[in-house]
Amino acid sequence: MKKALFGCIIILFIGTVSFSQQKNGINAIKESDLKRDLYALADDHFRGREAGTIDELKAAVWLADQARLAHLEPAGDDGTYFQFFSLWRNRIAENSSVTVGSRTLKLWQEAAILQTAPAKVDADLVFIADSQTNQTDLKGKAVALILSFKGDNDPYVKINPRRYVLQLIRTKSARLIEQGASAVFVVTDDSIDSTFFPRYAVNLGRGLYDIDGGLNVSVTTKVPVIWLPASFAKEVQESGKHIRIDVNVERFQYPSVNVVAKAEGTGTELKKEYILYSGHIDHDGVRYALAGDSIYNGADDNGSVNVALLAIGRAFTVKPAKRSALFVWHGAEERGLLGSYWYAKHPTVPAKSIIAVLNGDMIGNNHPDSAALLGSSPEHRNSPDLVNAALKANADGPRFKLDQAWDSESHREGFYYRSDHLPYVKQGYPAIFFTTLTHPDYHTPRDEAKTINYPKLKKVTDWMYLTGWAVAEAAEKPAIDPGFKLLR
Ligand SMILES: [Zn+2]
Repeated sequence: MKKALFGCIIILFIGTVSFSQQKNGINAIKESDLKRDLYALADDHFRGREAGTIDELKAAVWLADQARLAHLEPAGDDGTYFQFFSLWRNRIAENSSVTVGSRTLKLWQEAAILQTAPAKVDADLVFIADSQTNQTDLKGKAVALILSFKGDNDPYVKINPRRYVLQLIRTKSARLIEQGASAVFVVTDDSIDSTFFPRYAVNLGRGLYDIDGGLNVSVTTKVPVIWLPASFAKEVQESGKHIRIDVNVERFQYPSVNVVAKAEGTGTELKKEYILYSGHIDHDGVRYALAGDSIYNGADDNGSVNVALLAIGRAFTVKPAKRSALFVWHGAEERGLLGSYWYAKHPTVPAKSIIAVLNGDMIGNNHPDSAALLGSSPEHRNSPDLVNAALKANADGPRFKLDQAWDSESHREGFYYRSDHLPYVKQGYPAIFFTTLTHPDYHTPRDEAKTINYPKLKKVTDWMYLTGWAVAEAAEKPAIDPGFKLLR
């Protein structure tokens, strides 16, 4: 009994010594905190946090509140945690119509228009077989085509059919438009998952989003491409049909928001410099139901990084580094990286004081021992110093087996171009992107808190933290590669 008690005292004593000698704040990062926060943020209460809705604003307020509880200081506008900005939304107006023969189709239920752009077409409809697309004079005609995965040997049919079908519609219709088609009707046959049409129809109907000085979305007249479900296969093949298309676009503004907080550094001069940690608040909101669930909770995308940033914030407030840490939870990422485009151009700290951007997007899924660091391949690496800091932190800590393929310029997903580090790269900031990549639950209602691998989420959080810590403590800031050029 006594011996046991004595042992306990020794253990407690050693524990205290090692805590006070801890050279960084990593002990403040706790798997239990990550799990508690993610169950809260990915709850149905926030209805999938869609950009430009009250749900995104509610999630932003929740994050700001958690940042405050973590003792992070506000670093947004006017002494708050918030930087509001305006989204432009361009949407096909309800008075638009598509008529085939005598039948006016129900928009987004029977017909999905691929471009958010005005169009007026009155033409005869001709059906062409897929094999004839290069041989026919199509000037002024509306053309109908049936798309099938049957006999398509492209490996992407199996790897990512959902993404592939849209690429296929776009490339095939572009070819027909080049040959003079005035409108293109694409029917996807029953070899293609029948949920793809209604799922995309909801997305396409939401339209195109932009910010002032952002993506420069063009809503000038375009040749319309209309996607029809498999049930139209017979109808579009009947001869002598006439079509009428009248598409109008409406444009309006509403608010989105970045949440910004900081942990001030200890270095007299170095504390004026920032390591920027980046995640995104929003996900896809309420959409097409799969298995009876219509809320796209985005637990991995990007709840995982949002709660990681809170945990990293706690680590930096427990043990500040020489440089300061800045945390930006971006709004409207899913609508085109709009929050990060806005912040990269309108930072709330002096632009030159941001010396590195550590972005994360989806860090809690897939194989427990694998992860990826995008922006590390020679094609995408704009700062070898920053990449080396991350590789060293991985070697010292979690030792993930790093996937190289997804950071290749030739990878079909183009994943390097799809998250919030990109606007910062465009503004010339050293930037890297931590991720555990996509998975079958990606952008579905199945991406929920219960499917996250929490030990893995903790390991990636540690890795992001230790990378930022090393950069925040280093004598020199990471240099930008002067020869770096974005290839797209
Ligand atoms: Zn994401």
